[in-house]
Amino acid sequence: MRPIRAKIDLGALRANLDFVRRRSSGSRLWAVAKADAYGHGLARLQSALAAADGLALLELEAALGARERGWSKPILLLEGFFSTKEIDAFALHRFTAVVHNDEQIGMLEAARPATPIDVYLKLNSGMNRLGIAVAAARHAVDRLRACGNVAAITLMTHYADADGPRGVAGQAALFETVTRELALPSSSANSAALLRFPGTHGAWVRPGIALYGCSPFPDESAQAIGVRPVMTLSSRIIAVQSVERGARVGYSGTFVAPEAMRIGVVACGYADGYPRHAPGGTPILVHGALAQTLGRVSMDLLFADLRGLPQAGVGSEVTLWGEGLSADAVAASAMTVSYELLCGLAARVPVSVCE
Ligand SMILES: *Cc1c(COP(=O)(O)O)cnc(C)c1O
Repeated sequence: MRPIRAKIDLGALRANLDFVRRRSSGSRLWAVAKADAYGHGLARLQSALAAADGLALLELEAALGARERGWSKPILLLEGFFSTKEIDAFALHRFTAVVHNDEQIGMLEAARPATPIDVYLKLNSGMNRLGIAVAAARHAVDRLRACGNVAAITLMTHYADADGPRGVAGQAALFETVTRELALPSSSANSAALLRFPGTHGAWVRPGIALYGCSPFPDESAQAIGVRPVMTLSSRIIAVQSVERGARVGYSGTFVAPEAMRIGVVACGYADGYPRHAPGGTPILVHGALAQTLGRVSMDLLFADLRGLPQAGVGSEVTLWGEGLSADAVAASAMTVSYELLCGLAARVPVSVCE
């Protein structure tokens, strides 16, 4: 059997949830589990996520799946419904809908659901992605109340730079003003805002990445924050090449051996979800020791520099990311974010779950 594996550590997930809960000022907690729980598999995680107050998902199918597996707490659908017809399912299964544009309000006015549904009215406080203009919030709330198909209304927004130097200041001030004026409960904090800006916590927080044990910040590690990786991607060295000085390694020969050296060939490639654009020098653990990749990542294989690791050979365990090597560090080297690595775990990688 090919040695690549993803191990999902439910104990780490429980600990992260507990940690995030303690940092949430008593707010209720949506566990954000879109993209099949950031690539971990929602079905695998659902029992451990039961300590959250609700699940935030994207597709109606994902929400129906969670209900079928017995999730009875609230479910928030982050893009709401896409047609009037879908609103019936929201009523039937008690899903909460994000409503982010006038067209969706129109769909609610046209719908005839069996019962009114809960709505998160999403306001654009400055990210300019989804959401109704803050200045139009009152009118939108009036329409929602008048249509007869809406039960509870919560105001939500999303921060563009809670993880960066600008922080939340401008957006949070605007959002707080409107939530106060309309006297409605609020939800705005993603992981970064939850951890750095307690003033944003509101009625419900919406952490995602921190639950999975990665850092939302470019300048603070997951370990420093105090969360543990839930996914560990590992494999083994399946071949060792001893090359002479000047030998070229891998596609396009981008790596040229500066001296005679040993190179480990690892059974993991971009078809497993390892980023092809990760350059040589990306961190990797071999036998628990920090090492570096070299050359191009290919579809099924990548290279590890074995200089200084005489004990490493065929069969040596390799960690691509997870326990002992944060996905954040690998992502930084590959000019991406841990989110993309976790979500990109390929379907062909066997997954095991430990408690
Ligand atoms: C994905 C998402 C989150 C979670 O963000 P993290 O950075 O993973 O904590 C929160 N809110 C919304 C609207 C999202 O789409």
